[in-house]
Amino acid sequence: MVELKSASVPRSITEIASYHAHIYFNPGATRTIAEQLREWIGERFLVRLGRWHDVKVGPHDRPMFQVAFSTDVFSSLVPWLMLNHRGLSILIHPNTTNPRRDHLVDPFWIGEALRVHGDILPEQTGAEEALEPNTNPHLPA
Ligand code: ZN
Repeated sequence: MVELKSASVPRSITEIASYHAHIYFNPGATRTIAEQLREWIGERFLVRLGRWHDVKVGPHDRPMFQVAFSTDVFSSLVPWLMLNHRGLSILIHPNTTNPRRDHLVDPFWIGEALRVHGDILPEQTGAEEALEPNTNPHLPA
């Protein structure tokens, strides 16, 4: 379960190489909402929009697409998603060297929290630096 260590030294935010937002949808019911949200994100933020996963993949319990972004985008994108998730569930997690902890212990949700099968994720890996952006933002957030 959640580890509550009595750390003598706080973890540094320099552990966080980048972030992901996973935007979940139901293919039959809310995919068009997710499509609209994806378009809005691309118009406003310099991020990497991942491909559509119309079936469950990895630790995710519902179809989704991923938004990968650098730490300097967090302070604008995340509040914007709070206001514009339109009922969709969004998982925000850091990318450190411990994906299991990133997904199970340290993330947060916008909208309804869903299950995450983080037990299949490794506890040690290279931290994922922000992926090359593939958007061309031209509108204010
Ligand atoms: Zn992720």
